[in-house]
Amino acid sequence: MFMTIRKPLIISMVVGPLLATAYAVYLSWNGLVALQDLALLAVMYTLVAFGVTVGYHRYVTHESFQANRVIKYALIILGCMSLEGAPIAWAANHRMHHAYSDREGDLHSPHHAKNMVLGFFHAHMGWLLEGRQADVNKWAKDLLDDKELVFLNKTAWLWFALSLLIPFAIGGWTGLLWGGIVRIFLTHHVTWSVNSVCHIFGQRPFKTKDESSNHWLVGLLAFGEGGHNTHHASPRSARHGLYWYHFDLSWQLIRLLAKLRLAWNVYTLDRVDLPRAIAAGAPGVKVMRLWPRQMTPALAASGAGRGAGSGAPVRRLPSIADMADQIIPQKRAGNRNNP
Ligand SMILES: [Zn+2]
Ligand SMILES: [Zn+2]
Repeated sequence: MFMTIRKPLIISMVVGPLLATAYAVYLSWNGLVALQDLALLAVMYTLVAFGVTVGYHRYVTHESFQANRVIKYALIILGCMSLEGAPIAWAANHRMHHAYSDREGDLHSPHHAKNMVLGFFHAHMGWLLEGRQADVNKWAKDLLDDKELVFLNKTAWLWFALSLLIPFAIGGWTGLLWGGIVRIFLTHHVTWSVNSVCHIFGQRPFKTKDESSNHWLVGLLAFGEGGHNTHHASPRSARHGLYWYHFDLSWQLIRLLAKLRLAWNVYTLDRVDLPRAIAAGAPGVKVMRLWPRQMTPALAASGAGRGAGSGAPVRRLPSIADMADQIIPQKRAGNRNNP
């Protein structure tokens, strides 16, 4: 039953926002757009994008940091507002992508179609229509043990409905159009571009076993998720930008949360390993914990690791094979809400 209604449901979720966005562009072309509607679009897009990039991706899927309960709820609820599915299924699909990236079993690789155009379409949104989904019991078993997350997962549609009600309450029908439906259109295509654009175009500083790449435009629109090759090289890292000039707004938010002591156990690219990995074109780069620092007695005695933003590496992953631990964190903390 679900499978029979799934396809028309997904088609309407793709075509509906497309038609509504075309209508919104037509209105704006004729000068019929209010500043309030554009402000609603900007604010809603920013909040929901953080829900997907920081909440769904870096927090739920990869546990690249842990967060205060209020932050956890806020991020996941914002992710639910994206209409990209409930968080646990999202995480399972994405973990499966990391495990089989661009190989047999990857749900959305662009490299297994007859030509690049069909491959791009498949990776962008065609895979959603095919109905293949990762088994949550296999790929997200750890997440099913998190009662709060399961609650948010079950009520995902409620939060999505709220994301339409809020702009409607503020701006009426045009508020709903811009802050609700046009925002969904933009969030969808920007997220999907990570799967399509960032597995075809862009730069590959790390020689990962897949075709993942870093693309600056996707990075800009998706708040740092364009650092996709870096992410495949180091999935546990909460930071996807390689250098200070790589736009990674999601990382800046996580850093801010850590400074405010609202996030902890923040993993980032190992500062010692990173230059070596880039110079060698390595397939992966190690991660280290930014905060709280875990100083070994030897490091503490030598004074290493002191100074703002520094931290002692806590994980030494010897090879890409061990990166599996970065895809599905094995030692999930008993209580994710207390440092
Ligand atoms: Zn990828
Ligand atoms: Zn990922």
